[in-house]
Amino acid sequence: MIRVTIWNEYIHERQEEKIRQVYPEGIHGCIAEFLKTNEDIQVQCATLDMPEHGLTKEVLEQTDVLIWWGHMDHQAVSDEIVEKVKQRVLQGMGLIALHSAHHSKIMKSLLGTTLNLRWHENDREKVVCINPAHPIAEGVPASFLLEQEEMYGEFFDIPTPDDIIFLGWFASGEVFRSGCTFTRGRGKIFYFQPGHEEYPIYYRPEVQRIITNAVRYLKPVNFLEIPYECERAEW
Ligand code: ZN
Repeated sequence: MIRVTIWNEYIHERQEEKIRQVYPEGIHGCIAEFLKTNEDIQVQCATLDMPEHGLTKEVLEQTDVLIWWGHMDHQAVSDEIVEKVKQRVLQGMGLIALHSAHHSKIMKSLLGTTLNLRWHENDREKVVCINPAHPIAEGVPASFLLEQEEMYGEFFDIPTPDDIIFLGWFASGEVFRSGCTFTRGRGKIFYFQPGHEEYPIYYRPEVQRIITNAVRYLKPVNFLEIPYECERAEW
């Protein structure tokens, strides 16, 4: 069983009627709903307003893959919790950062760059798979169209990714590395750009398939460490 925790700052959906109509149970609620349909995935949710943002030591210890959605108030996430999440990633917990989570404290801390990008509202995006051999691309069409999406464009200030799986091509002509993986310590990270809060992106079957594949790909690997001993062993 893969234990997933979906973290959402959960501000837009509570403050703006228009966005509540798109995600009445919150973005996390929508993601939980489709992930729960998989027998090998177990889901819990956590939000910014919960004590310790819902990311207590116990919750983090029982999380194999953490999904992160944040936008309006990255600064409100406590540095202490960010450090705990970072340590868990370094120990092997997977991290999926969605859309505007590029600017979250945890992503900046793990990747070490500004993660700045170009952006504008109200564009149309063609998401193109450029790495069909990658497990995150399994069962995903060669390309799919998002009729409405916020534009995120290059240059995107990230370290060179391990793999680039999806490119975004926007009607305005901009391009973007929309789906990339990174490794930090023993943990794997997947950044996925689609998912602006105003549009029903997380209801799209292609997007759901990508996030589900990523959960399975990012789950920790059982690494059997041999304790180091200073004395020369017989072998
Ligand atoms: Zn957005």
